[in-house]
Amino acid sequence: MRPELSDYTHLSGGKVREIYEVDSETLLMVATDRISAFDFSLDPEIPDKGRILTATSTFYFDLLSRELGVRNHLAGGVEDERIPEEVLGRAHVVRKLDMVAFECVARGYLTGSGKKEYDANGRVCGVKLPEGLVEASRLPEPIFTPATKAEQGDHDENVTFSYVASKLGEKLASELREKTLAIYSAAAAYAESRGIILADTKLEFGLDEDGSLVLADEVLTPDSSRYWPADSYEPGRVQPSFDKQYVRNWLTGPKSGWDPAGDTQPPELPGTVVEATRDRYIEAYERLSGEKFCHWPGANA
Ligand code: ATP
Ligand code: MG
Repeated sequence: MRPELSDYTHLSGGKVREIYEVDSETLLMVATDRISAFDFSLDPEIPDKGRILTATSTFYFDLLSRELGVRNHLAGGVEDERIPEEVLGRAHVVRKLDMVAFECVARGYLTGSGKKEYDANGRVCGVKLPEGLVEASRLPEPIFTPATKAEQGDHDENVTFSYVASKLGEKLASELREKTLAIYSAAAAYAESRGIILADTKLEFGLDEDGSLVLADEVLTPDSSRYWPADSYEPGRVQPSFDKQYVRNWLTGPKSGWDPAGDTQPPELPGTVVEATRDRYIEAYERLSGEKFCHWPGANA
């Protein structure tokens, strides 16, 4: 008999995920179907999105463990008996870790907050870049661009490597940089072989009881990474994102009647947009993993 979700204490909820306590050493991380764009939570949810993201994380935790020997926080498989039926396929049982207070971001391409900083001072998080780069330029080599973890509602703030080293010590900061770049490079090369560009990604690490670094949170999902279709890549313009472009295009297009510059909640998404967005998430997962989503626990595809 699986436990009920209500048997666990609810610890916190983010924009997308909910965290429960299983016992003093273990957490249950549940990915919901919530989706956000332009910093708004959209309505309705995207059916199965939480399962697709959990499938993506599971795939990459396994790949990184096999290929690079990266240790991760998973304390059981996706069908672990501690996972309640009602969240089967969208949850991981994980080891509770002492989380590093920085988001570890690696970038191979220039966009988003990186592009803004570069335009202002030619650097991203203190890393000097060559002149003449444009939106979506590929960087000469991937860079480590850490950020603070903002409280809910605030934006994460980019910081320099020296700042991280001043807070955590040079040794731990260097280890974070080295691991983040190794994971990015392996994942980017892998995605490229499947026709997808991994422009950047955000990782989170924690320390276990021996003080060793362990990869935690979610990994290489479309919510934590920028994935671009390689066949339409063209530096000099904002690239379409693999998963959310459809919904963004609809929101900013004539049919939604919504002004992204205003401060109002976006309108309800039509069924066709919800369906197309779901298909994009599934396509990203299936192209990256080479596996069919319909075989995933609880998938109603
Ligand atoms: P947001 O979009 O606001 O980031 P979210 O839906 O991603 O929200 P979070 O609030 O980020 O949800 O929930 C995940 C939280 O759990 C993060 O604070 C993360 O650092 C933490 N976390 C991840 N893995 C572990 C772990 N193994 N042990 C302890 N905490 C963890
Ligand atoms: Mg988060």
